[in-house]
Amino acid sequence: MASAEFDAIVIGAGSVGNPTAYFLAREGARVLVLDELSASGQGQNKAAIGGVRATHSDPAKIRTAELSLEVFSRWKEETGTDIGWKKGGYCFPAYDEKIEATLRGLLPVQKAHRLAIDWLGTEEIRRVVPGINPEGLRGGTYSPDDGQVNPLAASESFTREALRHGAQYRYRERVVDLRVEDHTVTGVRTDSGEYRAPVVVNASGAHASQVSALAGVSTPILPESHEAGISAPVRPFLDPLVVDLRPGPEGRTANFYFGQDAHGQVIFCYSPKEKIPGENRSSTFEFMPIAAARLVNLLPRLRNLMIRRVWRGLYPMTPDGNPLVGWAPGVTGLLLGVGLCGQGFMLGPGVGMNLASLVLHGRPVIDPDVFRLLSPARDLYAGTRESLR
Ligand SMILES: Cc1cc2nc3c(=O)[nH]c(=O)nc-3n(C[C@H](O)[C@H](O)[C@H](O)COP(=O)(O)OP(=O)(O)OC[C@H]3O[C@@H](n4cnc5c(N)ncnc54)[C@H](O)[C@@H]3O)c2cc1C
Repeated sequence: MASAEFDAIVIGAGSVGNPTAYFLAREGARVLVLDELSASGQGQNKAAIGGVRATHSDPAKIRTAELSLEVFSRWKEETGTDIGWKKGGYCFPAYDEKIEATLRGLLPVQKAHRLAIDWLGTEEIRRVVPGINPEGLRGGTYSPDDGQVNPLAASESFTREALRHGAQYRYRERVVDLRVEDHTVTGVRTDSGEYRAPVVVNASGAHASQVSALAGVSTPILPESHEAGISAPVRPFLDPLVVDLRPGPEGRTANFYFGQDAHGQVIFCYSPKEKIPGENRSSTFEFMPIAAARLVNLLPRLRNLMIRRVWRGLYPMTPDGNPLVGWAPGVTGLLLGVGLCGQGFMLGPGVGMNLASLVLHGRPVIDPDVFRLLSPARDLYAGTRESLR
């Protein structure tokens, strides 16, 4: 390590790259972060609505998100910076039998992982989500330890802390090549310089396939378009982030989710029913009417809410919907923190902690057998083959 210019180079100052740089630098590693954009968190990080939960069903995501929750919830105490952490929980209301069965079916796994989550009856859900449409409401799950964070504030703060610990950041530098000698990554070339390090972390989000390909490694990351919006602030009335798993009555949308952030703004997002592959980030004409209808249907009291802005960003998807985290197969020194799908902000700090620990201590923070579920060497198409049988 000592003969190299840096101990590690991180490609991407985003949801994954910034915490990774911070955890590396905090332990004394010499870190360089490169981003083609002009500031930190300007890729998909700032598109996220900031939901953070450990209540997944996959053990690796549960353990990784638990690390993230610990980091986010203690960040202000540890650094003095407010990143908008709000421990308001997550609520998944159920309006039909099928969704109730799905949610109830996940509870044993989640409880086996000692997650704070339970099924609440109709009246309790109405207390947790004041004003929720009671018509057909059957109850729902509620996990009080989950929460929300402001993604841009978080990424700026991770960056400041990484810089304070000696990391270097270079913006407006696009990585155009990875130096590979004898199947070993030795550094990167950008459009304006060359840097050497024995470890290169690919945290380049939606462009991760192209970046891995520079070292001859295949990482199938398929960006998908998603839109979101935010209101003007209103008096705090809502604690949890609410996820409605029903398809929209308009036939265009799958789930819809929203919450009220630490500043009182209502932030919302839906998943289109048909996936929209590609990198189109232009807002659409149809988003706001559909989102408004879904919001007002769930919470009629929001019918006069003033919307401030909308935006569109990308989920960096993988074929099996799970992130690729760990050493790249077939080449030494390339570490992957990619394919975070729609959960990269909430998993980012946990992924960063594990990546830093792999570099500095040769093992992840979480149980290696659980961490292996995210291995880039796994069969990403196993589920597809299974469903064809
Ligand atoms: C509408 C919407 C809502 C979302 N809501 C949530 C949410 O509530 N919770 C959640 O957890 N997630 C959410 N997400 C998903 C989340 O935003 C992403 O999963 C996450 O930001 C991906 O993190 P990343 O670090 O992989 O990518 P990014 O944050 O995009 O970082 C990658 C960085 O790499 C840089 N880069 C790329 N190629 C190069 C190159 N060749 N050279 C130099 N730099 C390069 C980019 O400029 C970028 O800054 C949401 C996404 C959208 C679109």
